[in-house]
Amino acid sequence: MRAKTKLSWEEKLDQTLSKIGLRFTSQRQVVYSVMLDVRDHPTAETVFLRAKQAMPEISMATVYNCLDTLVRCGLVAQVNLHRAATRYCPNMQEHGHFYCDDCGKVFDVPMAPPVRIMDIPPGFELRRIDVSISGRCPHCHGAVGAGRTESARKSGKRGVSAAA
Ligand SMILES: [Zn+2]
Ligand SMILES: [Zn+2]
Repeated sequence: MRAKTKLSWEEKLDQTLSKIGLRFTSQRQVVYSVMLDVRDHPTAETVFLRAKQAMPEISMATVYNCLDTLVRCGLVAQVNLHRAATRYCPNMQEHGHFYCDDCGKVFDVPMAPPVRIMDIPPGFELRRIDVSISGRCPHCHGAVGAGRTESARKSGKRGVSAAA
């Protein structure tokens, strides 16, 4: 079952940690696996509750430390949304976040590079863009199950071609 060309997430974690001089520990492994398992942008507290299921003795402080380490080595991103607790996201592709005002869920929204949202004045070096959008998700908006189905949308055929 092991694909030679692709590193397992554990190997990736091990390599990434050692790049910044850190060891692979079972705590870091558990916290990272929690992040990869359910990609719903959990808060540190949710990560703690989930990690406890695999490792009952893990402490909140350890979870915070592990999350901090994962952020530092670039495997997990911190997501800071307006008026909400910091959340964590293991998707390291360029993307923004859509926050549903009704259910509180956070969704990844892909960004097509180059992203040009505003004019950066000369002299500033752009390093990172955080895009957070709020509104209502399809479920809360009532679009799910109303007429057009998800499966029709996802059937693969892209009906609309971009005007070149
Ligand atoms: Zn919603
Ligand atoms: Zn995300």
